[in-house]
Amino acid sequence: MFWNKKIETLNNKDLQELQLKRLKKTFAQVQHVDFYKKRLAEAGLKASSIKTLDDITKIPFTKKQDLRDGYPFGFFAVPLKKIVRIHTTSGTTGKPTVVGYTRKDLDTWSDLIARNMTMVGITEDDVFQNMVNYGMFTGGLGFHYGAEKVGMTVIPSATGNTKRQIEMINDFGVTTIHCTPSYAMHLSEVAEEMGTNLDSLKTGLFGAEPWSESVRKTLERRLGVTAYDSYGLSELFGPGVAFECKERDGLHIWHDAYLVEIIDPRTGEQVGDGERGELVVTPLVKEAMPLLRYRTGDVTMLMEDGCLCRRGQKIARITGRSDDMLVIRGINVFPSQIEHVLLKIPEVGNQFMVYVDRVNHLDEMTVEVEINREHFSGELADLTNLQKKVVKELRDALELRTTVKLVEPGSLPRFEGKSKRVIDRREAI
Ligand SMILES: [Zn+2]
Repeated sequence: MFWNKKIETLNNKDLQELQLKRLKKTFAQVQHVDFYKKRLAEAGLKASSIKTLDDITKIPFTKKQDLRDGYPFGFFAVPLKKIVRIHTTSGTTGKPTVVGYTRKDLDTWSDLIARNMTMVGITEDDVFQNMVNYGMFTGGLGFHYGAEKVGMTVIPSATGNTKRQIEMINDFGVTTIHCTPSYAMHLSEVAEEMGTNLDSLKTGLFGAEPWSESVRKTLERRLGVTAYDSYGLSELFGPGVAFECKERDGLHIWHDAYLVEIIDPRTGEQVGDGERGELVVTPLVKEAMPLLRYRTGDVTMLMEDGCLCRRGQKIARITGRSDDMLVIRGINVFPSQIEHVLLKIPEVGNQFMVYVDRVNHLDEMTVEVEINREHFSGELADLTNLQKKVVKELRDALELRTTVKLVEPGSLPRFEGKSKRVIDRREAI
């Protein structure tokens, strides 16, 4: 049940001492990042300002926009030769956010994932199929290395070709799968169509998008698994930040590795236990890219009760976002990214609408775009090439397939004040 029993069962006093020691170390590390050096000096903060864990509230927040402004390597606290891996995640406009890892970071990260897996009873006897994107998305390689560390037999099947995925589960006796909950729903339907009941499966690890208890019940029934929620984000290594234990009532967060606060996103003030707000995390063990008070944008709360299995407060399942980010097939998309892409294509204007639907349990995004008046001949029919161009530009920028519909100039709604360009028609899952 424990990967690292000593650290997973630290008493409160020892844990807080360790957290403070690591917070001070992180504070020293960020001095190698120009952004922090300037920001902390402006706030009048020095190493001696951090005497207790509560002093963290003196430190300004770090936002996703700050990371984007530092593109590409502005937040690295070590020379590039010490960075052995780079991942990226979508930013709010064109440029992605870059995250880097030293060799030690990769070791720490896979260790955290190994803790999660061990917590729910996964061992080296398990066969693991990792059905997520293996590219720049951290979910693929993150889980891959954690599973190898546990000693599982790992099948890096990545995404796509659902029938083949099902054949592999059956042929290789797969016991444990990892994917998005919506892909798991799709998988279960295809398995039913194929007339197979995936007998070998025992455990499903699902993450990268919010999902509900009713989806959990459906997945457990259809796939014959116990389903666990996994939470993480690339800026905090990736998956492995918080994870459900066998109680499946809230997610354990590794307090020796992540210092957690919940704030009111409007005021920035901390809220009480049991009150919902935005999750703010200060990672305490990152080497390449230390961060202070990173605003995740994810809405959750700290749970008041402890757990039978481990010490430390859990966080509740994520219920939404404090910003306008969409999660489409596990990929983060900001409407501003779409706008940024469209503005670079002179034949279309900056008027657009985004519709998100769920078809056969898979997210589908449709973008309606107005053609620029000067480029509009009166015929929508001759615009196939332009339509293909917009599809390609969006795919390149978002790493996501979208449907694009070109519409006549002036035909989309205009907004006064805050625009409502996104219509999310997916039912909550
Ligand atoms: Zn527990």
